[in-house]
Amino acid sequence: MKPWQKLLHWFDREGRKLPWRNTRDPYRILVSEIMLQQTQVTRVIDFYRAWMKRFPTWNALAKATNAEIIHAWAGLGYNRRGLALRDIARSIVTNGIPKTRNEWLTLKGIGPYTADALAVFSLHERHWPTDTNLRRVGGRLWLAKPYPQMSDDERIHKFADAWIPYTGRFFDLPQAAFDLATSICTKTPTCSTCPLKDDCLAAPKFLSGKVRTPKRMIKKTKEQIHPGKKYPDRIYRGRILSLVRQSESPIVISKIGALIDPTFSIIDQSWITAMIDRLIKDGLLAKSKNKLTLP
Ligand code: SF4
Repeated sequence: MKPWQKLLHWFDREGRKLPWRNTRDPYRILVSEIMLQQTQVTRVIDFYRAWMKRFPTWNALAKATNAEIIHAWAGLGYNRRGLALRDIARSIVTNGIPKTRNEWLTLKGIGPYTADALAVFSLHERHWPTDTNLRRVGGRLWLAKPYPQMSDDERIHKFADAWIPYTGRFFDLPQAAFDLATSICTKTPTCSTCPLKDDCLAAPKFLSGKVRTPKRMIKKTKEQIHPGKKYPDRIYRGRILSLVRQSESPIVISKIGALIDPTFSIIDQSWITAMIDRLIKDGLLAKSKNKLTLP
C-alpha cells in the first residue's frame, strides 16, 4: 500500500468529522480557513455553525455592515478577520468566484496558504497547504527533520508534489495530515502508533529516543505590551470593542480607560487614544465628537 493510501485509511477511521469538511463550496471552506487562523478547531466549530446560519452565502455576507460583522464575530478575537472575510465576499459578488489558485491569490486577505487550501479542497488541484501542522508532517516524512522550519517549505512543496497522487482522493490528504499532526505527529510524536511510521524518514530518529524536544518550536511573535500593563495591547483593544459592542448607547471616550483597565490612570490616556484610533482605522469603531459607536 502506498503511504498516501495508508494515511487515507487512517483518516477514514480516526479523522474528525468537522462541519466544513466534505464540501467543495469555496464559501464554506474560506469561512473555516479564516476562522481557524489563530483560533483552535474546538472553539471554531460553534462559531462556524452560527455564522453559516446568519450568513449562508457570499451574497448574504457581502450585504453585512461592519457592525453586524463585529457582533457576529464576537468571541473569536482578531476582529479584522471578520471584516476581511466580508470584503472578500463583496469582491466575489462583483467579480465572480476565482477559478484557479492564482486568481484566489489576487484577492486581498488571501495568502499562499489559504489559496492552496481553497485550490485543493474546492478546485481539487494538487497542493500541500503548508501551515505549522503540514510543515511538521511533511518535513519529518520527507526531509527527516524532526523540527522543520519555514525555510524548509520550498523543499516540502517539491516532495509533496512527487508524493501526492494524481487520482483518487488526493484532495483529502491535507485534512488527513492535519488530523495526524494534531493527534500523533505532535511536537513530541508517538511514531509507534503512526500509519506512516514505515515510510517516514524522521521516525527512526524519534523511535531511537535521541531527539530532544525543543522548548519552543517557533518563536512567538512579540506582542506589544504597554509599560506597566499586565496584558498585550490586543487584549485591551478587545475590551474596548466589547464595551462598545455591548453598550446600548454611545460611550464617552474619556470614560473608557477606567472601564477596561482597573489600573488606569490619566497618564495612560494617550495609550488608550492610540488604541481607539487603531480600531477606528481598522473599521471596527466609529467616532462621533467625543463618543464611540460601532461603525
Ligand atoms: S512516523 Fe512519527 S514523525 Fe513520522 S509522520 Fe508519523 S508521527 Fe510524524
